[in-house]
Amino acid sequence: MSTDTAQPSLAFSIKRTAHPRPDGERADILVNPGFGKYFTDHMAAIDWSAEQGWHDARIQPYGPLQLDPASSVLHYGQEIFEGLKAYRHADGSVWTFRPEANGARLQRSAHRLALPELPVDLFVESIRQLVQADQAWVPSAPETSLYLRPFTIANESFLGVRAAQRAAYYVIASPAGAYFAKGVAPVSIWLSSDYTRAGRGGTGAAKCGGNYAASLLPQQEAYANGCSQVLFLDAVENKYLEELGGMNLFLVRKDGTLLTPALSGSILEGVTRASIIQLARDRGHAVEERRISIDDWREGVASGDIVEAFACGTAAVVTPIGQLKGHDFAVGDLDAPADKVTLALRQELTDIQHGRAPDRYGWLT
Ligand code: PMP
Repeated sequence: MSTDTAQPSLAFSIKRTAHPRPDGERADILVNPGFGKYFTDHMAAIDWSAEQGWHDARIQPYGPLQLDPASSVLHYGQEIFEGLKAYRHADGSVWTFRPEANGARLQRSAHRLALPELPVDLFVESIRQLVQADQAWVPSAPETSLYLRPFTIANESFLGVRAAQRAAYYVIASPAGAYFAKGVAPVSIWLSSDYTRAGRGGTGAAKCGGNYAASLLPQQEAYANGCSQVLFLDAVENKYLEELGGMNLFLVRKDGTLLTPALSGSILEGVTRASIIQLARDRGHAVEERRISIDDWREGVASGDIVEAFACGTAAVVTPIGQLKGHDFAVGDLDAPADKVTLALRQELTDIQHGRAPDRYGWLT
């Protein structure tokens, strides 16, 4: 679908809720928000139609959507989304991390799902407006944040299988607690051998709901095997590492080199992944983006060449991988002595996000 970036920026109208959550209730929620359970008082919305383009940008009270039962999103899954966070710094100010990168990725996802592309400046403005309206919802305890969930749905009432002529973009927000409340702990991951996530020419590089629906069954398999995340291999040879259900993957060699699967078109280009690559290179690590087979990993661990592994994404930032399990073989205990590189990169990234270190890359808005 065409890029609407030529469209002039829209002004947001603001309709505040008459029933915000009482201060005491909100304060109680912010003590222990968990993840994705509670939502703020407002949401951002922008409508789109083929005739009018993007229009009616607004902040409105948070609440249910009215959808015609024939809306295309309900039948053909024409939907995309994003995930990013706002952080409260010690001086009380609130910052988002690289929102323009999420805006650009939402555009790439829109292109793949034949949805309209929201101009990046409107994306960033929608985030700014919502965070401003609901700034009291940004928690301040260490490692907490306000998770932002922008998404676009096709809402034309029409059952023909073609790109919808009407769509709507929304942003909702949910306070998020510290992912690792008791300190960073290594996770076990499950190597899926029966299922893959994405094939060549498919939607793996897009952040669309369907990818996640398809990951739920292998994710259940992971839980059943005592693992918290599932790792997918490539769909052609069932041999090369791709990514986890909701995170990208890195391995660390003894000499400090970082290895990560190249952007093959079937994995999501993580904002955290790109940030880690930059931080690592600036710390003097070599970083190789390439094909990595599961045998490379297993043999590297056995020979002592691969000494750490971690997953990264917006939710958990950087998570050490302590164990990899699978049907066909055991890679075994990957617990590395103190996960030195993993934890140093994690610290550096979270220090920037939470304002404990200078924003030397200009990543904060
Ligand atoms: N891969 C997948 C499949 C994801 O859902 C996510 C989370 N958005 C990531 C990787 C990590 O991306 P990011 O660092 O932008 O959160």
